[in-house]
Amino acid sequence: MINFILKYKFPFFVLVIAILLIGTSFLLKLEKEREQRIIYERILAEQKALKERERRAELKLYLMGKFEPSQKEGFVSVPDAYSISGYKMYLRKETLDAFLKMAEKAKEENIDLKIASATRNFAYQKNLWNNKWTGYTLVENKDLSKSIPDGLKRFEKILEYSAAPSTSRHHWGSDIDINNANKEYFETKTGEKVYEWLEKNASAFGFCQPYNQKRNTRTTGYNEEKWHWSYAPLAKTFTQEYKNLIQETEINGFMGDENVSKLNLINDYVLGINPECI
Ligand SMILES: [Zn+2]
Repeated sequence: MINFILKYKFPFFVLVIAILLIGTSFLLKLEKEREQRIIYERILAEQKALKERERRAELKLYLMGKFEPSQKEGFVSVPDAYSISGYKMYLRKETLDAFLKMAEKAKEENIDLKIASATRNFAYQKNLWNNKWTGYTLVENKDLSKSIPDGLKRFEKILEYSAAPSTSRHHWGSDIDINNANKEYFETKTGEKVYEWLEKNASAFGFCQPYNQKRNTRTTGYNEEKWHWSYAPLAKTFTQEYKNLIQETEINGFMGDENVSKLNLINDYVLGINPECI
């Protein structure tokens, strides 16, 4: 029998074994390639997720003003001819370009537009805020640390016109104060004329007034600010991103911040704006 197999079937057996060996090694190779592809895809997905986490973290810092405007990509300095702040100010390039076009048009109609305040980062806003909190800066001629000892009430008083650090639209480089950040100026003849012109023309240059008069459309938030204008194409996006990314528990690092949890800063203040700016 053995002799018979060896004599007639041996080549056939060799062929079968060879085919089996080649087939098995081919299948093993395919399986290995499949495993490698899965590992590669997993690494790619992890890298993508990491990049997205980094992008979100960086965007959050930006939205909360935790950066230096003079070093930030996309920011340019406000020309001295249009600045009345006495120090170097910065804006997103798109905002400044739109403002300069608007100021040029206004000039043709004998309206003078200058920037009184532009980008204010977290550190700057914290300084403004803390000075009001401690009474170093008087609010309506009062030292609030003495006239309003209750923390929450003092916090709400400062919020009438000032945003808590991390929640200001001035962090974004899309918002400016025009000519004078005081309501008294807008009660003068010049101020009235300026506001009238802005109300009529600012939207044609992309600007909207986020803190307009409190009417049915805006019942919460800061008091009316006729001087504060947002470059809407940028500010609308930042408002949405703020809403999606920032938690109230992340708003801290300044005097009186223990009161943040007692208020609805994001809903009532960051989003308590003129619907035309949302
Ligand atoms: Zn402002």
